[in-house]
Amino acid sequence: MTDIFSIARLPRIEFGAGSAKKLPDILARYGKRVLLVSGGRSFLGSLHWEGLNAALQAQGFAWEIFQVTDEPSPQLVDEAVASLRGGRFDVVLGIGGGSVLDAAKAIAGLLKPGNSVMDHLEGVGPELPYRGPATPLVAVPTTAGTGSEATKNAVLSTHGPDGFKKSFRDEQLVAEYAVVDPDLLASCPSHLIAANGMDAFTQLLESFVSSKANPFTDALAWSGMEAVRDGLLPWYENDMDAALGREKMAYAALLSGITLAQVGLGSVHGLAAPLGAFFPIPHGVACGTLLAAATRVNIEAMEAREPANPALAKYARAGRLLSRQAHGDDSAAHGALLRVLDAWTERMDVPRLGAFGVGEADLPRIVANCRGSSMKTNPVVIPDNDVGKILRMRL
Ligand code: NAD
Repeated sequence: MTDIFSIARLPRIEFGAGSAKKLPDILARYGKRVLLVSGGRSFLGSLHWEGLNAALQAQGFAWEIFQVTDEPSPQLVDEAVASLRGGRFDVVLGIGGGSVLDAAKAIAGLLKPGNSVMDHLEGVGPELPYRGPATPLVAVPTTAGTGSEATKNAVLSTHGPDGFKKSFRDEQLVAEYAVVDPDLLASCPSHLIAANGMDAFTQLLESFVSSKANPFTDALAWSGMEAVRDGLLPWYENDMDAALGREKMAYAALLSGITLAQVGLGSVHGLAAPLGAFFPIPHGVACGTLLAAATRVNIEAMEAREPANPALAKYARAGRLLSRQAHGDDSAAHGALLRVLDAWTERMDVPRLGAFGVGEADLPRIVANCRGSSMKTNPVVIPDNDVGKILRMRL
């Protein structure tokens, strides 16, 4: 093997049904004063919270709850830090979807330093280096999509014509523990299963073909893609294998966070940022609706200009994996990959961009704002007119 690569910091990981029961023991390693960042009713109204609440009480923990009900903004983080700082907490426990985990991550990062998150956001403001120290974070996902439990970035958004989605990113923000308990996903409605599943798969496929991919991330991305192939539709369709499907998706999402944090993403995530900032499009829906079109454009660009690009053969391998067919010829395997992605999008009713008010007149503004960090690891450089083509296929 000739590759040379580095692996950035990862959280300690507890995976499996019932693993949330280990939380009191994990938290106690850091102290007994806990800031619980969580969502609305999806966790705090559940029997899981009743059980954890009783266990924390029995073991003498003290905690405060900070609720996050939407994708977090820099303002939300700054307000939380201003009201919660002062050395009151030994550990931050984030339990929720990607929005909650990102808010918890940013708050844990700034509780001690106390400055504004705007100081560190990529592409906005002074981009000062983050020096920490971060308060230890324990991250517990309740959706199977973002992989935020394993990443070093918190995505923060502002909405409207001048809106943005930008990351506060530093290795010190990586959670101390990721506790991934598929039982916490049981309440996810089908539209969330679809959007999050497509987000996880997009992260796996984009990191698999990333220009920075390495053998370590390839192995994880492959295992994650296989888990999505086997788990997503059974869980979405609530068939006999739904519980197993849920477990596979929790695993796939975790791996997708690990791989994206190591080697980056691609054009789908490049576009998901302005789309999510300018329009009310949930992140996973943006990924799900664009993935097949963006994959098609990448494949065509490499066939035309870079036939030796290793990502082209990797797309073919992914096509063989998803279709479970040998497809001797790479171009047949590319076709199979695109057919599976299109079929998932249709079967799970992933909406088109037009459903959120995106029209032809909006494309120049979206294209002009898509070249953030994700676009830099797309396996092939795609010119603006090809980016527009991706969007047009999904209007
Ligand atoms: P989300 O966290 O915004 O949650 C969506 C909805 O689902 C909310 O109403 C929430 O209350 C509800 N919900 C959560 N868990 C539930 C459950 N078990 N049962 C029922 N309802 C539940 O959605 P998300 O897709 O998990 O996160 C999206 C955010 O994550 C976006 O801001 C995206 O940019 C970000 N993200 C971050 C990273 C990262 O590495 N930091 C990676 C990808 C995406």
